[in-house]
Amino acid sequence: MSSDEYRQQESELDELYREIIIDHYRSPRHKGHLTAPSASHEGLNPLCGDEVTVEVVVDGGTLAEIAYSGSGCSISQSAASMMTEAVAGKSVAETRRLIGDFTAMMRGEESVDAEALGDLEAMSGVRKFPVRIKCATLAWHTLAEALKQAEAD
Ligand code: ZN
Repeated sequence: MSSDEYRQQESELDELYREIIIDHYRSPRHKGHLTAPSASHEGLNPLCGDEVTVEVVVDGGTLAEIAYSGSGCSISQSAASMMTEAVAGKSVAETRRLIGDFTAMMRGEESVDAEALGDLEAMSGVRKFPVRIKCATLAWHTLAEALKQAEAD
């Protein structure tokens, strides 16, 4: 493949990724509050001014319900929406694995199971902008804290 062809492919991929991210920003999934969360946690990214609160209902080892609320840049908010869609209804063990895979992908680790990540891979483009990586991982770190709380109760 020539370098021009490679660039072309890369920009098409960027375009697709951008569309996924914009779609979640415009039509957020699971945004709002749960009536009776088993735990909730507020995460802050002072570098960018992002805030994400994650509420969960954990029932018999399953993440039965999840919601997020918050404000901040489009990456932080669409990352939260994509995350809730990816983990809703999954087991806590699977969710923890996904948290590990996603944060590893954002650190640029090569051993990540891209297939398990699915649409979440769209966020990998953010790695080109190192200051925004914390925007993309904020919701995930916040979810990890909420799960810790849910299990401590
Ligand atoms: Zn941000």
